[in-house]
Amino acid sequence: MEIKVGNAVLEAVEGDITGENTDAIVNAANSGLRGGGGVDGAIHRAGGPEIMAECRKIGGCPTGSAVITTGGNLKARFVIHAVGPVYRDGKQGEDKLLRNAHVKSMQIAAERGLKSVSFPAISTGAYGYPIREAAKIALRAVKKFLESDSGIERVRFVLFGKPAFEAFSEELKKIEDKRARG
Ligand code: ADP
Repeated sequence: MEIKVGNAVLEAVEGDITGENTDAIVNAANSGLRGGGGVDGAIHRAGGPEIMAECRKIGGCPTGSAVITTGGNLKARFVIHAVGPVYRDGKQGEDKLLRNAHVKSMQIAAERGLKSVSFPAISTGAYGYPIREAAKIALRAVKKFLESDSGIERVRFVLFGKPAFEAFSEELKKIEDKRARG
């Protein structure tokens, strides 16, 4: 499923983000940038120790923000480590933090002149964010950013497993339907 946003393409695909050949892939990191399970572990395993060495130098990243490192051995040249919120009850500002993690990642990519970025479904694994709500927040934040003519030409959401892929595809379709209705 993909839609056009200005001159850019915004898409949802099912797959493993570590194989992406976009300029950058986004990691669902923790605020200590220490690595861990889930997509974070997979990215460090595939990318090699150079990524963790840079993470250690940076030291940490607040929730709702992001930092950039080399892509190490990955096809992607860079990894943008975004820190999403732990979901508690949805009343602790989780939505704003998740939005900000996406916006900051896009800002970093635009500042570096990157043309393509792949995101995982940040916060929807160990951090427990309900997938549909996360899809809505993530896609709307990125769409809005792409409307600002950032120079980024393609953003891919690479979803692990069918439920996540379907949630993001349905949300993309809603965005498209809303636009068609004017
Ligand atoms: P968080 O702590 O932010 O919730 P997780 O890594 O636990 O991060 O999960 C975030 C999302 O990443 C989940 O939807 C999970 O299924 C997905 N995921 C795990 N491994 C990969 C991978 N290799 N590629 C893409 N997505 C992945």
